[in-house]
Amino acid sequence: MDSGLRKEIEDKVLSGERLSREDGIALYECDDLAWLGGLAHHVRTRKNGDVVHFNVNRHLNMTNVCQASCAYCSFQRKPGEKDAYTMRIEDAVRLAKEMEPEGITELHIVNGLHPTLPWRYYPRSLRELKKVLPNVSLKAFTATEIQHFETISGMSASEILDELMDAGLESLTGGGAEIFDWEVRQHIVDHATHWEDWSRIHRLAHEKGLKTPATMLYGHIEEPRHRVDHVLRLRELQDETGGFQVFIPLRYQHDFHDSRDGIVRNRLQARTTMATGAEALKVFAVSRLLFDNVPHVKCFWVMHGLATAQLALNHGADDLDGSVVEYKITHDADGFGTPNKMTRDDLLELIRDAGFRPAERNTRYEIIREYEGPEPGRRDVPQPMRF
Ligand code: SF4
Repeated sequence: MDSGLRKEIEDKVLSGERLSREDGIALYECDDLAWLGGLAHHVRTRKNGDVVHFNVNRHLNMTNVCQASCAYCSFQRKPGEKDAYTMRIEDAVRLAKEMEPEGITELHIVNGLHPTLPWRYYPRSLRELKKVLPNVSLKAFTATEIQHFETISGMSASEILDELMDAGLESLTGGGAEIFDWEVRQHIVDHATHWEDWSRIHRLAHEKGLKTPATMLYGHIEEPRHRVDHVLRLRELQDETGGFQVFIPLRYQHDFHDSRDGIVRNRLQARTTMATGAEALKVFAVSRLLFDNVPHVKCFWVMHGLATAQLALNHGADDLDGSVVEYKITHDADGFGTPNKMTRDDLLELIRDAGFRPAERNTRYEIIREYEGPEPGRRDVPQPMRF
């Protein structure tokens, strides 16, 4: 990037002016990660100070049976496969109840697109879960699942959302977005929910007063321009509805190998190399800079490893996804030593160690509890990237 453009982008960021598509592509072409991180940190600090938000949640996948076969997915199983499962509602409730002593405030529920489970299973599950865990927020279902419910119920998305909200739904989840550009999407996504339906369903949720997250799966066959396009679509929708609370870049997990049967289920694997830590930090920084109207950028540490997650907090992220137990969609025990469970204390330590002040939030991003920042003698408070 020449010094003129660099100065131009810097001036825009410092004055709060919106960056263009061309700026986004130029930022991805820039190799000066310290500069990028510094700019993103400036924006992140302007929006969220020295706070890192986190929540303590539990991921619940009630069925891994799915009629689709997305190329990046190592979670789905076909009916009758050895380790295909579908929980009875009582079992899902029992499992969720077991988490109560850990002080969870949110259940994050995502499932495969089961070909024969009836629609009534889903609102009934929420009702039963809410009955035993009245103080736990239910963040459930991707836009892809909502569209699947339209097919199996014959109801409209609006009616479906009304019934789910009546049963206790507080937020959709952000999945099913992957990369919106059809050039890439046609090679990785096997379900029927593309930008038109994904945005239709999130827009509808926002109109009904739900706040939702938005995700982007990166580090597979997409190019930087596809990432820019993805964020700009979301930015435009956010201008319209203001309903996105958080943007979550998800790193495609390359090295999945199913230890139970030795099958490599993740069909993109042979065509990709996994994004490096530096590339991941660039994605966080550019996302923070481009997506100027979303309040938060989250690092889902399970997909990035703990050290990269800490660094992401200096590259635009201000939110860490919480105490996850057995996250399965694209991650099983990976080869990087990343745990798939952390406690509240582990998260506090991780955030303080990176030089930030932890704040526990609920699903609506209301602060439940604020904590002391790091010991001054141990780290600068906070530790900005210098540029
Ligand atoms: S990503 Fe979702 S829809 Fe696609 S195969 Fe996996 S579980 Fe099914």
